[in-house]
Amino acid sequence: MKTGTDRYNRMHISMLDLTRQFRGLKRDIKKAIEPIFRSGRFVLGENVEALEREIADYHNVRYAISVASGTDALHLSLRAAGVGEDDEVITTPFTFIATAEAITYVGARPVFVDIDRHTLNMDPSKIEGKITSRTKAIIPVHLFGQPVDMGPVMEIARRHGLRVIEDCAQAFGARYRDMVVGGIGDAGCFSFYPSKNLGAYGDGGMIITNDKEIYRAVRLLRNHGANTDYKHRFIGFNSRLDEIQAAVLRVKLRHIDTFNRRRRRIARLYTSMLSDAVECPVELPGTYHVYHQYTIKTARRARVIKALRERGISSVIYYPLPLHLQDAFRYLGYKRGDFPESERASRRVLSLPIYPELRPDEVRLIARTILDALSSL
Ligand SMILES: *Cc1c(COP(=O)(O)O)cnc(C)c1O
Repeated sequence: MKTGTDRYNRMHISMLDLTRQFRGLKRDIKKAIEPIFRSGRFVLGENVEALEREIADYHNVRYAISVASGTDALHLSLRAAGVGEDDEVITTPFTFIATAEAITYVGARPVFVDIDRHTLNMDPSKIEGKITSRTKAIIPVHLFGQPVDMGPVMEIARRHGLRVIEDCAQAFGARYRDMVVGGIGDAGCFSFYPSKNLGAYGDGGMIITNDKEIYRAVRLLRNHGANTDYKHRFIGFNSRLDEIQAAVLRVKLRHIDTFNRRRRRIARLYTSMLSDAVECPVELPGTYHVYHQYTIKTARRARVIKALRERGISSVIYYPLPLHLQDAFRYLGYKRGDFPESERASRRVLSLPIYPELRPDEVRLIARTILDALSSL
């Protein structure tokens, strides 16, 4: 271990520092928010409508409907797509739990397929073996900002008459071939939780679709089954976006491509320094990864975490336990060994700090810390 580390000792690098971004956007955000207080309209107003239009245009789709969170986006789009009691929905066990929770909210059963060892995304070649007469939909998750191989997913879905709901919570602006993710399947679901690539200053979510029936159903579902007329066509939910979040998001949306380019630049720097020591993220040909997370894989993870921590550098394990082994899903009857690639990933992955404002000297320090930790074995 190198000893001349004193100058690093007071360093602190967290996974994400949103205050840096706010400093750059402060004037625009204050200007966007101020009129809302005077308008007296705080939920589902003109900023929400404008944001919906702008996000639909960004993705080149007909409709965008805002909701209260990414979890709600998944839940309400499954419901709107007609998925319900005793249906089966195929997804990945290596994701944030919200993906699978949403499936249970409509009374359906999550059916997992294992991931690809390198991309960490759902392996399309394993989908068909899981399709039964009850299967209604597939939820591909563009994990960490990496697009799922959607070509085969769509082909399988079409052949079996299944709906495809994309979980884009970590992948705003990612592209597969010439398509922005979210506009490929029947619906795309986004989260605006503050830490996401496009993050609000509170909770929020969005569904995009070209399907008029999904659009109509979600518009009603998010507002107690009614338009503004107090005529309730069915039992719905309270899942609306507020004006302040929409105004913040409209300011940030103007910069999202720049933010994503900066994330990619940071990822390239990490990879250039780390690729001999650990397994770095890969990009499939024809895809545009937006690095919501920069996730390495190493069998010597504990050592890396310790070395980073000693220098005040954060790192996080996304995700330490695949969903099929979570207590919450014990009722599904899965066991250890059912999804070996997901289990292997859980033992080896480590996400490093990444956000558009992270400086190259910080990235180099993080990478050097990892290299030092692994070379002193
Ligand atoms: C964040 C996230 C969600 C849920 O979004 P919320 O806005 O937190 O409800 C769903 N799926 C994935 C993959 C996520 O990362």
